[in-house]
Amino acid sequence: MKPLLGGKGANLAEMTRIGLPVPPGFTITTEVCTYFYEHKRSYPPALNAEVEAALAKVEKSAGKKLGDRTNPLLLSVRSGARDSMPGMMDTILNLGMNDEVVEIVSEKSGNPRFAWDSYRRFLQMYGDVVMGVQKREDEHHEPFEEVIESVKKEAGVEKDTDLTGEHLKTLVSRFKQLIKERTGKKFPQDPRQQLWGAIGAVFGSWNNDRAIVYRRKYGIPHEWGTAVNVQTMVFGNRGDTSATGVAFTRDPATGEKVFYGEYLINAQGEDVVAGVRTPHPVAMLAQEMPAAHKELLKVRDLLEKHFRDMQDLEFTVEDSKLYILQTRNGKRTGFAAVRIAVDMVKERLITKEEAIRRIPADSLSHVLAPVFDRESVKGAKKIATGLAAGPGAASGHIVFNAKEAVELAHKGQRVILVRIETSPEDLRGMIAAEAILTSRGGVSSHAALVARQMGKVCVCGASALRIDYQQGTVTAGDVTLKQGDFISVDGTAGEVYAGEVQTAPSEVVQVLVEKKLDPKKSAIYQEFASLMNWADRARELDIRTNADTPDQVVTAVAFGAKGIGLTRTEHMFFEGDRIDAMREMILAKNVDERKGALEKLLPYQRQDFIGIFTALKGLPATIRLLDPPLHEFLPHTEAQQQDLAKKLGVSAERIAQRVHELHEFNPMLGHRGCRLGISFPEVTEMQARAIFEAAAEVQKKGVKVKPEVMIPLVGFEKELKLQIDIVHRVAADVAKEKRTRFNYLVGTMIEVPRAAVVADQIAKEAQFFSFGTNDLTQTTLGMSRDDSGSFLPHYQELEIVKNNPFATIDQNGVGKLMEITRDQAHKTRRDIKLGICGEHGGDPESVKFCHRLGLDYVSCSPFRVPVAKLAAAQAALE
Ligand code: PEP
Ligand code: MG
Repeated sequence: MKPLLGGKGANLAEMTRIGLPVPPGFTITTEVCTYFYEHKRSYPPALNAEVEAALAKVEKSAGKKLGDRTNPLLLSVRSGARDSMPGMMDTILNLGMNDEVVEIVSEKSGNPRFAWDSYRRFLQMYGDVVMGVQKREDEHHEPFEEVIESVKKEAGVEKDTDLTGEHLKTLVSRFKQLIKERTGKKFPQDPRQQLWGAIGAVFGSWNNDRAIVYRRKYGIPHEWGTAVNVQTMVFGNRGDTSATGVAFTRDPATGEKVFYGEYLINAQGEDVVAGVRTPHPVAMLAQEMPAAHKELLKVRDLLEKHFRDMQDLEFTVEDSKLYILQTRNGKRTGFAAVRIAVDMVKERLITKEEAIRRIPADSLSHVLAPVFDRESVKGAKKIATGLAAGPGAASGHIVFNAKEAVELAHKGQRVILVRIETSPEDLRGMIAAEAILTSRGGVSSHAALVARQMGKVCVCGASALRIDYQQGTVTAGDVTLKQGDFISVDGTAGEVYAGEVQTAPSEVVQVLVEKKLDPKKSAIYQEFASLMNWADRARELDIRTNADTPDQVVTAVAFGAKGIGLTRTEHMFFEGDRIDAMREMILAKNVDERKGALEKLLPYQRQDFIGIFTALKGLPATIRLLDPPLHEFLPHTEAQQQDLAKKLGVSAERIAQRVHELHEFNPMLGHRGCRLGISFPEVTEMQARAIFEAAAEVQKKGVKVKPEVMIPLVGFEKELKLQIDIVHRVAADVAKEKRTRFNYLVGTMIEVPRAAVVADQIAKEAQFFSFGTNDLTQTTLGMSRDDSGSFLPHYQELEIVKNNPFATIDQNGVGKLMEITRDQAHKTRRDIKLGICGEHGGDPESVKFCHRLGLDYVSCSPFRVPVAKLAAAQAALE
């Protein structure tokens, strides 16, 4: 139903079906939205009659009529896409109000204040959303809010709630005047005209800027469109026996099984979400409206049992009667996603497979994210507390608006977006910031909602903070921080600190990697471990890691990696003194000099591999031979060149000349990869010797060693053969010298299109292939992996590419070449081992693609191993 009715519409229908108290209404389908955009914003011819018929039904069951003189019906008109897009599209409430209806409502309810308040709210929303009365560039405040402020001033009151019916009447007339002034048009009194205006505006809001940004971020297709839900209004602002609120059936930040939410007496839903008045926690409803609270708890239970997921619901109590206005699967943090799914398995609400499917693989990176270091926190000054709305810890420079957040983040600064409250306009800045901090608003405020979904660190409603946008300051007690100063936000505890606080590893890392924390003491670790266990049983892909040091190996193996998929040996050459030997090798004038330098490098490399093989404890290690162009190892400034000259006892001119010789116009397409080993076979020889001598030594200690020597950037069979011959020869030599045998493989990376196309020939020599999708993407798209940042974002905006192809495999292009490679390779060697070691190996979508391709393993950085495991399990269950 969701594709057709949208999430909100489908769930309203479902709740009505299971007998929950839902106000009567109807839904205009997403197909109408598609039609609307395909036909120059017009409707299918049959729509008018269908809306009339549906409306007649609603009128009948509500016992009221739209625009009726005795019993007028008021409606809400709300958007609702297939996936919820909170706050991104438009909503109109109290539709049907006009100069006559307001009088009737006033009389019938015996509450003129309520009637006029409803009318002014309608005017405000209709004026903004349908008629376009909005803040101009040069204005600081919303025009309707300005009018409210001036009426409050004239009336001498502070709060909106202190305005009387008479004041609100004045407000209504000023609002109408404002609309006329700004648009040149009169506010429409005819309820049917209002209805069609509202329907058009909701469809139109599918394509507003923020909705488009949101869809792009969350990969929601633009073709889906929104449905429009038209529903009878119920009122939480009818006096003290009425209320409105939002609630989550479990805590959306931690996942704990507690009823979690908030409400306001005598208010409408927007008051709760806008965060202007601070709402009460839902537990207080037990005292203030015990009957409604009891029923609400029943509804909570029914909803969870029915939808078998944590629900985010909106409710209203009108004259002591409870109504449920909406329910949807609640957005949650990564922590909560794991906890809720694992708990629901224990509660037998869902199966293990469902738990695996349900948790976005990326949310595990949230569970692994750092927390504040306990010692560092002790020394920091806590300046405020607020709601823990997005777990995790972050320090950064204060910025007060979204635009600056984007600009500074773009320059590589860590920024914390500090706002009184956020609104959908702030979305880009929220994406760019490390954390979001607001001084106003509750668990369902915009900031909390969005942070939860993005997995951003967030504290909201930190009411001790005084934020002054004009001055660019935030003050708490005697502490005043300026724009650019450091601030630290602990979104797990809901605490705010002045200055920078150091971070420490997450509990999962403390248990698994550092072994400092008792697993029994960490609930999140336990949940994580159960989930990983289930994922391991479900998945077919093996997960390896990209690691260059023993430490990285230990971390990855603790997370469950089954070996190394890529060791980039060049990284080892940058450590300590060995860079000098490396430079000596590059500066050598002839083979003998080069061999001399390589001899100095050999013991270093051997030691590196001993460390890695030892840490692997028998797991396989794919070791790639030297890959980058040699100029990357030489110093480029004159001063650095002079230093090096002194150190090596050569002339600075010689170094400058060599740098000049090695200069290339396109180094990524130049003298690199196996081309180096072809030109300088002695380099390959040294590296192979280091690998096998290390293997011999570790084997001697009774530890199994499985080296997989990998030749980079191969495009021709002969290239590979020349290199492989060296590896085999050296392996045989070392085996003989050390009187041992090696269990090793030799293979290559698939990084250029030619290698893919002639994979059948290359497979004659290679025992395994590993897709180097960083280079394969670069060479297939002819797009530099280092330079594409300057135009790719624009490409994504224009939807030339859906995702960044360097992050998520371009399945139609690069993916095709991978398929060709697999098929060609199998012709020659049925049992060839296939893996991937480009960055894509840790990207959930790409991992799923690799599963479908039938690879043996994916390899990713140590902290992505859990993410890849879960994605692989999800792929196996698809
Ligand atoms: C690749 O190209 O995908 C790869 C893993 O190698 P590197 O990133 O080192 O070029
Ligand atoms: Mg590469």
